[in-house]
Amino acid sequence: MILHSTNGKSPKASFAEGIANGLAPDGGLYMPDTLPRLPQAFFKNIAEMSLKEIAYVISNTLFGEILSSSSIKKIVDESLNFSIPLRQIRDNIYVLELFNGPTLSFKDVGARFMAHLLPVIVSQGSGHREIILASSGDSGGAVANAFQRASSTTVNVLFPRGELTTQQISQFATLRNVRAIEVDGSFDECQALVKEALLNDAISRGGKLTSGNSINLARELPSMVYFFHAYAQAINIHGTDAKVVISIPCGNLGSFCAALMAKKMGLPVKRFIAANNANDVFVEFLKTGGFTPQKALITLARAMDVGNPSNIARIIDLYGGNLSLLRHDVEGYSYSDEEIASTMKETWNAHSYHIDPQGATALRAVNRHVNADEIGIALASAHPAKNAAIVNKVTGAAPIMPRELETEFNRQMKIIKIPATPSALHRIINN
Ligand SMILES: *Cc1c(COP(=O)(O)O)cnc(C)c1O
Repeated sequence: MILHSTNGKSPKASFAEGIANGLAPDGGLYMPDTLPRLPQAFFKNIAEMSLKEIAYVISNTLFGEILSSSSIKKIVDESLNFSIPLRQIRDNIYVLELFNGPTLSFKDVGARFMAHLLPVIVSQGSGHREIILASSGDSGGAVANAFQRASSTTVNVLFPRGELTTQQISQFATLRNVRAIEVDGSFDECQALVKEALLNDAISRGGKLTSGNSINLARELPSMVYFFHAYAQAINIHGTDAKVVISIPCGNLGSFCAALMAKKMGLPVKRFIAANNANDVFVEFLKTGGFTPQKALITLARAMDVGNPSNIARIIDLYGGNLSLLRHDVEGYSYSDEEIASTMKETWNAHSYHIDPQGATALRAVNRHVNADEIGIALASAHPAKNAAIVNKVTGAAPIMPRELETEFNRQMKIIKIPATPSALHRIINN
């Protein structure tokens, strides 16, 4: 797999170079030159295939040139060891429950895959590895957990002050090989600091530092797997002629970009819906073709509070800048806090089902924009208990608390506080 930068000014890179650096030297995101198409035979059998079987095929197609099938099998078996079931809400409307991994959000998929893939592909020698990422809520926990047994690896999690729940912070700030860095700024400022550090030679020290966000393809590409798995489950129930529509809660657009890459590889989904909260730069982009980063507003669906989504560059690249082609595959809708809350409440009242605020944003779009002859799937991207206070307040009922969250509460947290400046971050990482 050959990679290019979305900014087009860096030399091409191998997959190993791309994931070791995280970000291209010109500041662009790495993107595969081409995405291979999966064979027709795969789609003939997909309805009967398990999550892992689907992941083997996709990973072999993507990484078969650089990894043996036995090491691919090992990576898949160790990283995707939880279920991602499709749950019916009513009639033709479903939710894909992406929250059964160890830290209870969809980010476990990419983070765990990356943690198993990285040591196989990028040799660490005898040195130390540093991972750096910005977290809007769930990626800090997912990446820290995924790397917790990786020897001599430090995970630096930058998170915006006041935006995460105590439980979310405790998922990473209690782990030994983590620096939990609270930034006096927004998620977008955290992300800008991460990019600055990755591009700064003094800090990144020749590939010793890489990104743990979806800007790293080692985390981004594996996210394709759950779209195939969702489709497989839908046609297993409704037959191969089912017109499947998938709605995705969008923040940094990592998950959404993975959906479009899956389509490029042949996934026969009819269309994708991008669901934004009030931070609607992507929905505006679909409308107008103009991309104007905004200062992020704080909403009920916190994990989607992103005003300058990185992966938009990949989406534009994937479609060769052709907005009408993109609009052919994609619709977008944005919802206010009142609308998100109303879907959470409605879903609880009518179906006794708690959905997290992010998932509710996607579900609202499915409820409104999927036709009766289509199958609508909303991604439930986090367990409702990860936003327990909001869920409780909106629905009047407390979500069931999974065991994973209870234990983390009791451990000691270590937090480093910094202003949103590169020099403050450099002092910590060089420490
Ligand atoms: C990160 C996150 C999102 C947004 O996903 P992106 O890939 O950043 O667009 C949505 N929901 C939850 C629960 C998340 O943690």
